[in-house]
Amino acid sequence: MEKRIYNFSAGPAVLPLEVLETAQRDLVALPGTGMSVLEMSHRSKGFEQIIEETEANLRQLLQIPANYQVLFLQGGATLQFSMLPLNFLRGTNRPSDYIVTGTWGIKAAKEAQREGEVCLVWDGKSTNYRRVPHQNELKLNSEATYVHFTSNETIEGVEFSETPNTGNVPLVCDMSSDFLARPLPMERYGLIYAGAQKNAGPAGVTVVIIRDDLLARVPDNLHTMLDYRIQAKNKSLYNTPPTFSIYIVMLVTRWLKQTIGGLSNIAALNQQKAQLLYEAIDQSDGFYRGHAQPDSRSMMNVTWRLPTPELEQQFVKEAQGRDLYELKGHRSVGGIRASIYNAMPLAGILALRDFMLEFQASHAEMK
Ligand SMILES: *Cc1c(COP(=O)(O)O)cnc(C)c1O
Repeated sequence: MEKRIYNFSAGPAVLPLEVLETAQRDLVALPGTGMSVLEMSHRSKGFEQIIEETEANLRQLLQIPANYQVLFLQGGATLQFSMLPLNFLRGTNRPSDYIVTGTWGIKAAKEAQREGEVCLVWDGKSTNYRRVPHQNELKLNSEATYVHFTSNETIEGVEFSETPNTGNVPLVCDMSSDFLARPLPMERYGLIYAGAQKNAGPAGVTVVIIRDDLLARVPDNLHTMLDYRIQAKNKSLYNTPPTFSIYIVMLVTRWLKQTIGGLSNIAALNQQKAQLLYEAIDQSDGFYRGHAQPDSRSMMNVTWRLPTPELEQQFVKEAQGRDLYELKGHRSVGGIRASIYNAMPLAGILALRDFMLEFQASHAEMK
């Protein structure tokens, strides 16, 4: 096998080796079916088992109550930016509340503006998206049709450590980059969506978890594919779903259950991994400067700067010599970003931490 490097890409991102090996082993003939999952009808018994196990695994891991539906849709999290206001804002004469803590939240709010009133109830722009708000800073509208937030801003590396309280107004979350990273108080959410390619699988499938009372609010006459109610009624099989992507999500959720032992365990591991990098930043005498404020730091995307853009470039380049790849920050913010999703092994974090210490030792005098 070709050697694998440590891949710190923000997405599509690292997957558990075990998952890749199972997919490889079973690619030509899925046990019990005599054909590849790539060749299998989405209406076949074989695929029915795959989509049912994927849903069951998600329900078990996240302890999703029976009054929520689990959907597997296409179009990425980006299509959810539109689908959400189409289903719940259009024609309501009520506002929607958006808590904006970074780039993805801005994009979500922009799409909603096409369908109705959007209140930016908190916007981190003035602090350059370095932190998330405290509950007491949120001036929410009790009349809002929903409140939207982004639990983890993948580009800036800021993450909510607690679920915002929105009273009776349904809470909607773009959880693309920290989905399945920790246990959730599911009953506090009305709708969660997550593109799989960050933390749950490959590109091509977006998981949507939606409470029944929200489904009941969907207006008639929406375009079929954009109607959550139709997708739920057809169990995500109105048209051909991304079968292979769903299969990989099945293997990832199986890995979380069987190898990791559930979301509390992965959360503890994620905490430990992030801590190692943040310690290296905090103990660097200012050579490394974290982007996020300490109380808003992401456990998934660690973002920081070096004294100069030239040193940042050199850092990224030299890191590759240690098999540490994809560390360049997003083009919109610059600096360094290490995406350390569930599947990034501790060994990769230790290798990065050691490299950070060495790089600092050999370049700190240039500060
Ligand atoms: C990557 C990402 C998106 C966009 O996902 P696509 O699948 O490319 O549409 C949206 N929100 C967050 C938080 C993301 O990390």
